Amino acid sequence: SRDAISEMLERIEQDNVRFLRLQFTDLLGLPKNVAIPAKQAEKALTGGIGFDGSSIEGFVRIEESDMVLRPDLSTYTLLPWGSRECAEARFVCDICKANGMPFEGDPRYVLRKAMEDAARDGYVFNTGPELEFFLFRMLEGRPTTQFQDVGGYFDLAPTDLAEDVRREIILALTEMGFEIEASHHEVAESQHEIDFKYSDALHTADSVITFKFAVKTMALMRGLHASFMAKPIYGICGSGMHVNCSLAKDGKNAFYDADAPMQLSETCMHFIGGLLKHAPAITRLANPTINSYKRLVPGYEAPCYVSWSASNRSALVRVPAPRGNSTRVEFRSPDPTCNPYLAFAAMLAAGMEGIREEIEPPAGVNKNIYHMTLNERKRDGIATLPGDLAEAHRALLADDLICKALGPHVVEALTSVVDAEWDAYRTMVHPWEIDRYLATY
Ligand code: GLU
Ligand code: MG
Ligand code: MG
Repeated sequence: SRDAISEMLERIEQDNVRFLRLQFTDLLGLPKNVAIPAKQAEKALTGGIGFDGSSIEGFVRIEESDMVLRPDLSTYTLLPWGSRECAEARFVCDICKANGMPFEGDPRYVLRKAMEDAARDGYVFNTGPELEFFLFRMLEGRPTTQFQDVGGYFDLAPTDLAEDVRREIILALTEMGFEIEASHHEVAESQHEIDFKYSDALHTADSVITFKFAVKTMALMRGLHASFMAKPIYGICGSGMHVNCSLAKDGKNAFYDADAPMQLSETCMHFIGGLLKHAPAITRLANPTINSYKRLVPGYEAPCYVSWSASNRSALVRVPAPRGNSTRVEFRSPDPTCNPYLAFAAMLAAGMEGIREEIEPPAGVNKNIYHMTLNERKRDGIATLPGDLAEAHRALLADDLICKALGPHVVEALTSVVDAEWDAYRTMVHPWEIDRYLATY
């Protein structure tokens, strides 16, 4: 509205903002932005800012490339690095076509649609992600895979040399409005986790993009590279982005039922049923890189089988102990390379089908699935997650519900991305093959 816009313009002036970054996300989940001088703020906030979408991954063909960025006023954030006198702020934007209609290839729109669909039954989808990442040394301006520290799980300084960097990162995130709940050194050398408070999925997806961008910026200011790659180093843990999911209805947590078995409501059980049913297709979105599948292997606390559990960390879906308003299910396959908008949209669509169709999940598996044989898994009906990106993509194409949630534009664009990526990988001769075959044959 007019009032909200003039209020915002006033705020921009009071904050001494000289530049505005208009942020959006491509289909790969990479942040993009157009920077404009603050003088253009009024124009941007009233009519949006035009840009050429043709060179953005998965966006549009050349002949229909005129796009408009519409800043979402509620996402105004001052960027904490840089000077106070000449500040920068950013807005997350929705993307419209030249005719003013929402653009079907905007990941934010895909998630909005999924949230609107859940809202028809009175539900708000809340997500709380746990992002893990590595801090690597830089050499001559380029990132390496050299560790910055040799700490381990929950280690304290002086082993945890990264503690200062992590503290600075957290201070910056806090200034940007993040409510940080916990942070710790992760299992691997130089690996860290920072958790922030859950929120509705759209807001959380915005936050995930902002988080990665802020962590990278703060690390770089310390001469380090923050990598959110899923499995940067063979033989040690990869980085996950567990997503804690819950649904709220009438302001209450719909997953909690004091009288139900394990105090988990039917809604919760059906949501799990839907998640498990569509797990193969969701994998394509939760784990979108070729490298993602090197993380989904036994032995590193990452899931590889389709199961749920109230306790075991080898399961795809785990139900953490807290109940009442904190009741949630932890979906453990996503990694931080995912496009959070698309991953959340797929998860929600699956969960909502579970609720509407009353899909009962199979019995929970409370033993370590890594230690079960193939036959034991077969007997217990435990399927395996897709083993590589091509398989995951086929699973997506075979899943009408998830394809419908994404819309044909996104499915088509994701298909061309996978085709190109998979061919490049498939035709490459990797060092492993040389080691294995060169001398032998
Ligand atoms: N790093 C593990 C993963 O790849 C997760 C460790 C944990 O449970 O926090 O998912
Ligand atoms: Mg962790
Ligand atoms: Mg976790």
